[in-house]
This record gives sequence, structure tokens and C-alpha cells, in this order.
Amino acid sequence: LFVTFEGGDGAGKTTQASMLEDWLGSRGHTVVRTREPGGTEVGVRIRDIVLHHRGHIAARAEALLYAADRAHHIETVVQPAIARGDVVIQDRYLDSSVAYQGAGRVLDADDIRTLSLWATGGLLPDLTVLLDLDPAAARRRLDADDKPFDRLEAEKSEFHARVRAGFLALAVAEPRRFLVLDATLPADELARHVRAAVFARLS
Ligand code: C5P
Ligand code: MG
Repeated sequence: LFVTFEGGDGAGKTTQASMLEDWLGSRGHTVVRTREPGGTEVGVRIRDIVLHHRGHIAARAEALLYAADRAHHIETVVQPAIARGDVVIQDRYLDSSVAYQGAGRVLDADDIRTLSLWATGGLLPDLTVLLDLDPAAARRRLDADDKPFDRLEAEKSEFHARVRAGFLALAVAEPRRFLVLDATLPADELARHVRAAVFARLS
């Protein structure tokens, strides 16, 4: 089973991924918890490049770097885990690319999706949890948590609005793959919804 968490920065993806990991572990499942960008040694270096130079990389080059990270990660970590029968819980996947590099940087969404599917041999998640949050609320949340550097500051608010709309459009297009949750709900309540959706997909 391949489960991905998507949404803007500060939406609570990491918290929910961790709660799901604990729950599946307590039920005896072997879980591989991973993320993009940066789920491999090669990926950590790509993550460094894209985050360090964000806003100063040609949009197409940035899209290709994310795709390269993803290609290596899926082939060396995720596909082997799925083949073993493990549950893979992943922070961000191709929907992030369609939302950030597509809607955010205004590249063609279909091109970005095609690029990702080429990079991964067409792998789609069984379930994608979209934690939907208004960018202004996300900003307040990150400020309150005193995050070491405010990632949202790196882009204009219109960028984050396009990213959010991009994610929601993806969920509308694939309602069976997506579970869209209001990220302002309490973490425990979100986790219950996530568990129910995962449970329904564990045969
Ligand atoms: O979620 P995580 O902290 O790993 O994301 C790192 C940063 O990379 C975030 O600020 C996110 O907005 C950005 N990102 C992006 N395009 C992607 C994936 C992440 O711009 N495809
Ligand atoms: Mg996170």
C-alpha cells in the first residue's frame, strides 16, 4: 500500500504521517516512512540545490530536479518496499510537483504530470491525503511554531494561493485516490479520518 500526504507548508503532513506510522506499526504492519524531495542520499543533495536556490532556478530546471529526485527515490526505495508488501507512507509526491512546479511556477500541469509518471514508471499512490489549509493560516502556524526559517516567505502569497488551488483541482480530478481534509481540524480528528481511509484500502 502506497499512501502519500500532500498540502502546503505548515499543513501538518509530517504530524499526520507520523501518527499513521505509529498506528500501522501497532497493528503489525511494516512501514517505510519516506519523503520527497530528499528520501535518498542522492535526493538529499538535490533537495539542497532546489531549496537553497529556490526562486533563482529556471522553472523547467527546477521541475527536472524534482523529477530526478523522484525517479531515484521511487526506483531505489519505494518500489522495493511495495514489492516486499510494506506500507509506504510518503511526505509529498507527484501532486506536489503538479501544484508547485505546475500551478505555482505556471508550467503546464499535464507536462509536469507526464514528466513525473515517466520518472516513476507510472506509479500512483493508493491513497493521497490532501491537508488543505489557507496560506495565511499556514503562515500564522509556522510563525507560532517559530520555524527556523520561514519557507513561505520565499514566495509571494499569490504563489501559495495558486499551489493550494492546484492541489484542490487534482483532488477533484481523482476523487477516488484523494482524501481532502480541512487541516484546521484537531490532529486527533484528522488522524481518525486518515486511519479510516487507510483501513478501507488494506485488503
Ligand atoms: O515538505 P518539505 O519540507 O519537504 O518541502 C520542502 C520545500 O520544498 C517546501 O517549502 C515546499 O514548498 C517545496 N517544494 C516545492 N516543490 C515540490 C516539493 C516541495 O516547491 N515538488
Ligand atoms: Mg513537513
